Amino acid sequence: MPQLDQSTHCDCGAITLSVTGQAISMFQCSCRNCQTVSGSGHSSIMLLPIEGVRIVGATKSFVRPADSGATFTRHFCPECGTTIAAESSRAPAFRIIPVGLFAGANDWYRPNQLIFSRTHPHWDLIDPEIPQHAAYRPEQH
Ligand SMILES: [Zn+2]
Ligand SMILES: [Zn+2]
Repeated sequence: MPQLDQSTHCDCGAITLSVTGQAISMFQCSCRNCQTVSGSGHSSIMLLPIEGVRIVGATKSFVRPADSGATFTRHFCPECGTTIAAESSRAPAFRIIPVGLFAGANDWYRPNQLIFSRTHPHWDLIDPEIPQHAAYRPEQH
């Protein structure tokens, strides 16, 4: 995983996001929620330890139950609606970051799997080389 040290902001500039250190995982997700929120067939995201994520500015949050039974919280800019980060109650020490926030400066992104392939639409092309999981990835611990 590349060493990250980057800052970016939401579409309107009210919220600044900084990331440092290494992502735990980089993956794509085709669950229906990600499709709705991203406006596409999948989201491109990475998982970072909470220590490596800094958010400046007041975000709004939306909380919903996840398929796993956990609680999923998405933080977004109250002005422009850009998603800044998300988290699962199952993994409170980590933050899920949309890689598109670093538009123009995210050549380092290397997704290593697609999750929720069972709801992936055929028209949304995914690298055929990366492993796909029907729902959540198998437990890694
Ligand atoms: Zn904004
Ligand atoms: Zn998803």
